[in-house]
Amino acid sequence: MSRLYIDGAWFDAASGETRSIINPFDGSEIARVAEGGQADARAAIISARRAFDNGPWSQTTGAERADLLVALADAIAANREELARLETTDTGKTTEESRWDMDDVAAVFNYYAGLAREEAPEVLEAPDPNGKSIAVREPVGVCGLILPWNYPLLQASWKLAPALAAGCTVVMKPSELTPLTTLRLTELCEEVGFPNGVINTVLGPGATVGAELAENHSVDLLSFTGGSQTGRTIMGAAAGNLKRVALELGGKNPHIIFADADFDVAVDYALNAVFFHAGQICSAGAKLLVESPIHDAFVETLSARMKAINVGNGADPDTRMGPLISAAHRQKVEDHVALALSEGATLAVGGARPNDPALANGFFYLPTLLTGCTPEMTISREEVFGPVIGVERFDSEAEAIGRANDTVYGLSAGFWTTDEARIERVSRALRFGTVWANDFNVYFPAAPWGGYNQSGIGRELGRAGLDEYTELKHIYRNHTPKAFGWFGADD
Ligand code: NAD
Repeated sequence: MSRLYIDGAWFDAASGETRSIINPFDGSEIARVAEGGQADARAAIISARRAFDNGPWSQTTGAERADLLVALADAIAANREELARLETTDTGKTTEESRWDMDDVAAVFNYYAGLAREEAPEVLEAPDPNGKSIAVREPVGVCGLILPWNYPLLQASWKLAPALAAGCTVVMKPSELTPLTTLRLTELCEEVGFPNGVINTVLGPGATVGAELAENHSVDLLSFTGGSQTGRTIMGAAAGNLKRVALELGGKNPHIIFADADFDVAVDYALNAVFFHAGQICSAGAKLLVESPIHDAFVETLSARMKAINVGNGADPDTRMGPLISAAHRQKVEDHVALALSEGATLAVGGARPNDPALANGFFYLPTLLTGCTPEMTISREEVFGPVIGVERFDSEAEAIGRANDTVYGLSAGFWTTDEARIERVSRALRFGTVWANDFNVYFPAAPWGGYNQSGIGRELGRAGLDEYTELKHIYRNHTPKAFGWFGADD
């Protein structure tokens, strides 16, 4: 049975409780893991605090930390296939997608190793020629990392790699649904030789383990990826010691197809933008805005392609879309579709579970297309987090921009046009953390990722993602101090 990793050793939960981990393809048990609780979270925080305050880790050089990060990236690459298969069994996504994830995970550790090596103080122009002024970045301290279930290891790497590169110590809490690759990563961290207490992994529910990480005053920073409502709760809980909070939350991401777009490529990307991992992607382009002159032809071609998507076991190389993560999550998706229909949307494709008996025990839902969506409908405003596209028709650039920006979210947006001037205008006009022109869902380690508005606070990836895990200190040194003679000195 898989256990909790605290201060360099593996433990059962203090309560002795365990949890069954389910394969969403067929509902079978794939593992039993320790189900941690508040006491385990506290033990892990104490371990991380001790390692930060007493250990050598926070005083190591960037180059020393980089060596371990590269060793970890190498270990991930060496275990790519095993990790990918584990991720697929745990999440249901196709093995090919999981392989891409593992390549991205290794790339993120290598990228932050590079930044750790470059670490150097910034020399400032001092106001006095006898002064020397530098700004240095120092690790922020103990970090709680709370992870979602959709990209378990990738999301872990976006937090863990910069936290370690900065010299922080961490307590990781994977989603209770998908802990297996995070546990395997923890083993790899142990193998490559991170000091005891630097990395701690505690499994368990958000309400106990997650809440403790958010509330505990020995935690200096809380980085969370998950739903917006949970983000709000965490922000409130974190206020007790005013810990730093980084939140990567949900989105309702507009995908705009102008009439002058390259039609066939845009159709292809309308699919790519949503159906990877059955739409359980925070940046899914599920709000599809299509300009009137091409609307009907676009919907028709899209429908034909959607009906041909091969839904099945992610471990089968012919599968293009796997199941949803759980029965409860599928129910939420079904409720969204029912509400959309009751609000006046038209069902063009899907809207049901597949009737293949081989998929009956899994949490499957067919690729679904809703047309005739209008801006006031719930489907046009709220995140579904499933394989569902809602199509809206628009008539002008201004209307498309206005509708896209009319959201409480602001994670990502994409658009398709062959007009160069429009590319510049629309890229600037869209109020989102990431905007893709003639592409969608492009991520790479150097590009900052995060949301405007209620899609989050802070940034992951890029240099900004490292800065989140540092404090900025100004050090001023006077080389030739002289008395100033202002207070109480004789004239
Ligand atoms: P969730 O909010 O239910 O859970 C996320 C994590 O928070 C889990 O580990 C959970 O155990 C924990 N948690 C739950 N309640 C908690 C509490 N009270 N205190 C502390 N921790 C708590 O989200 P989810 O269902 O796992 O993930 C789906 C959501 O994540 C979607 O809304 C999606 O858009 C978002 N997401 C965002 C990004 C991004 O980069 N912005 C990436 C992936 C997912």
